[in-house]
Amino acid sequence: MRGAVIHAPGDVRFETLDDPKILQPTDAVIRTVATCVCGSDLWSYRGAEPIGEPHPMGHEYVGIVEEVGSEVTNVKPGQFVVGSFATSDNTCVNCRNGWQSNCLHREFMSTCQADYVRIPNAHGTLVATDEHPDDEVVPGLLAVSDVMGTGWYAALAAEVQPGSTAVVVGDGAVGLCGVIAAKELGAERIIAMSRHDSRQKLALEFGATDIVAERGDEGIARVKELTNGIGADSVLECVGTPEAMRQALNSTRPGGNVGFVGVPHDVAIDGQELFFSHVGLRGGPAPVRRYLPDLIDRVLSGRINPGKVFDLTLSLDQVAEGYKAMDERRAIKALLKP
Ligand SMILES: [Zn+2]
Repeated sequence: MRGAVIHAPGDVRFETLDDPKILQPTDAVIRTVATCVCGSDLWSYRGAEPIGEPHPMGHEYVGIVEEVGSEVTNVKPGQFVVGSFATSDNTCVNCRNGWQSNCLHREFMSTCQADYVRIPNAHGTLVATDEHPDDEVVPGLLAVSDVMGTGWYAALAAEVQPGSTAVVVGDGAVGLCGVIAAKELGAERIIAMSRHDSRQKLALEFGATDIVAERGDEGIARVKELTNGIGADSVLECVGTPEAMRQALNSTRPGGNVGFVGVPHDVAIDGQELFFSHVGLRGGPAPVRRYLPDLIDRVLSGRINPGKVFDLTLSLDQVAEGYKAMDERRAIKALLKP
């Protein structure tokens, strides 16, 4: 089979790789129907994370089950499945508590930009749809495997309530999905921080009520103007930079909450500032598996359409162009089809 391999910053190649095999009785192998490039893939593509030896890439996927190990009984060959970027047995104590992305047997997916993918912990990770979905909902289901699940978690971690005000920091795919989540959870006012015309439009379509284009102190001041001078009830931090975290913490009202889902890079939080702010803070890799059945239903019923974050569709062998387009911000998110 063939798949994406990163060799160095800016150097992703589509190469022949060994076909994945069942290694454990809890594994499955799926044939990829769609995969994509994640904003978090850009950290290594841009050299912000060490690459080391050349290695495969990709952690978002939907596909058709090809083969299952002897202990996998919830899905069978031929079914269309959606999974999470973090695998989980769905039975350990962390999973039972709803924190499947901290499963005691967790493995992070990292080989999904390929024709076939081995899924560890398949029994607890994969959710099959009743039927093969129509082509037009495949992007939405693919979004659920990471960006929509992550945006959902950001809104829950920020404790978005019906009637509340939410701010979304970051207008990448996760931030835009965070707007969908805040709307679904009943936020009355949703302030999207974005400087890009096409992303502002999509945020408004997804339910944002206000756009703030300013950043830094000006952005914080603008949010406060819109929130009675005190800040928002809930802020979703969907970037992972020190500037974005500062923006989020300072845009939250005393007693409000920040949900942070951008993988932090060089983010440091001042303990005293946090102490005196009365702002609550929760983040981490989203326990997407917890939300899969619900989010799959919302997509299949047409209630939400997070697939719109994919504004570039390429064939899998053009994966390098997908990285380049996202790196240069020509695309929000690139969908790849084998
Ligand atoms: Zn577990």
